Amino acid sequence: MNNPSVDAVVIGSGIIGAMAAHYLQQDGRSVMMIERGEVSRGASSGNAGILAFPEIIPIAAPGTIWKAPKWLLDPLGPLSLPPSYALAMVPWLWRFWRAGARAAFNRTVEVNAKMMPLARSEMLRVIGRTGLEKMVSRTGTLDLYDSEESLFAASTDWEAKRNAGFEFNRVGRSEIETLQPGLAPQFRHGIFTPDGLQVCDPYDFTKALVDHAISCGASLRIGEVTRIEPTASGARVALSDGAAFEAKTVVLAGGAWSKSVAASLGDYAPLETERGYNTTLPPGAFPLQRQLYFNDHGFVVTPLSSGIRVGGAVELGGLNLPPNYKRSEAMLKKAKAFLPALKTEGGRQWMGFRPSMPDCLPVISPSSATSAVIYAFGHGHLGLTQSAATGRLVADLAARRQPALPIEPFRIGRFR
Ligand SMILES: Cc1cc2nc3c(=O)[nH]c(=O)nc-3n(C[C@H](O)[C@H](O)[C@H](O)COP(=O)(O)OP(=O)(O)OC[C@H]3O[C@@H](n4cnc5c(N)ncnc54)[C@H](O)[C@@H]3O)c2cc1C
Repeated sequence: MNNPSVDAVVIGSGIIGAMAAHYLQQDGRSVMMIERGEVSRGASSGNAGILAFPEIIPIAAPGTIWKAPKWLLDPLGPLSLPPSYALAMVPWLWRFWRAGARAAFNRTVEVNAKMMPLARSEMLRVIGRTGLEKMVSRTGTLDLYDSEESLFAASTDWEAKRNAGFEFNRVGRSEIETLQPGLAPQFRHGIFTPDGLQVCDPYDFTKALVDHAISCGASLRIGEVTRIEPTASGARVALSDGAAFEAKTVVLAGGAWSKSVAASLGDYAPLETERGYNTTLPPGAFPLQRQLYFNDHGFVVTPLSSGIRVGGAVELGGLNLPPNYKRSEAMLKKAKAFLPALKTEGGRQWMGFRPSMPDCLPVISPSSATSAVIYAFGHGHLGLTQSAATGRLVADLAARRQPALPIEPFRIGRFR
């Protein structure tokens, strides 16, 4: 029996799938998106909404692994590794440790220093093209440190950001008070990035992009893709409900769930998830002027159109363990201590799955089985930020054009 044939299939309706669909449409491609759950309700719905273009420093850095034991000792600290999942994480942690060696770290910083300007310029282009300017605010980012020593410890990272062309100012207590009234007096050292951008709500933004793709002719099919197979003219996508589609191009943008589908093509991706938590308080919970990042505590407070979001943390707990919302509560308690007038009642808790590669770089790459299948997953902490650049690279690969950036660092085969 012949399978229905479509031009391009995009698997996943998160921010990466939405951008891939948008860029393929820019090239005149006809797109079908396939989503197994509620549209755009994966990691892209509940993140902090920050377009963190200056964030060129990977978490896999020299010294990170030595800080980890201290964090792990605090059961509700910024990093946790549930004992029942610890063994499964060993191969990923081994690669993460190797990615933090000085030479590998320097290479990743270089890659990010090229990726982020593309991410920024492409994001601004998409926002302009789709009329989503009202969903983006430019109020700047305030990074806060507990002490001068801790700011000093981060100074090399900030210098690298400056060398990559990002502007920021060091600020003391009086500027901090002006930038964000109501912060606890302990915060006397910070960095203000005036150009810091954020989306007003990550779910609304992602869904608006999916809706835009649909208004430009994309179709949406609800169903779970179980495998992809190469064919003479492209690839065949099989769904768990028995349906199958033939396509000239298939983009796998399934976030943290992409590993098994890539494996059906014989490709290995050491993809794990860094689970993150937050609480979204009702609008009016605090007169927040801009994003505040509490660097020594691993969480951020963001003003969204849907409320005040307090979140962050990393839990290396895989896809199946139940959420531990004590993590959301712990961050909320700290936020209350740092912003004493914060009203902590009436919040909505959330846990989401960051799709994370151990070298902190995404996979943006043709499959080793066929160039008709393009992978776009594994963006970790930076999926929203790097989404437009990813869409652009996906479209370049699909059109067999010279990619806007060399894709070698993002290749699926780098883990062989
Ligand atoms: C707490 C937290 C805060 C964050 N803050 C930021 C931030 O401020 N800035 C930033 O840039 N990034 C941030 N991130 C990271 C960012 O959210 C992710 O990198 C990004 O959302 C990943 O997008 P995605 O489209 O790859 O995955 P997802 O949004 O998870 O989308 C994947 C989609 O694919 C679907 N899918 C999966 N498998 C299949 C299948 N087999 N068949 C059909 N459909 C399938 C899923 O149902 C899902 O809808 C944060 C993450 C967390 C958890």
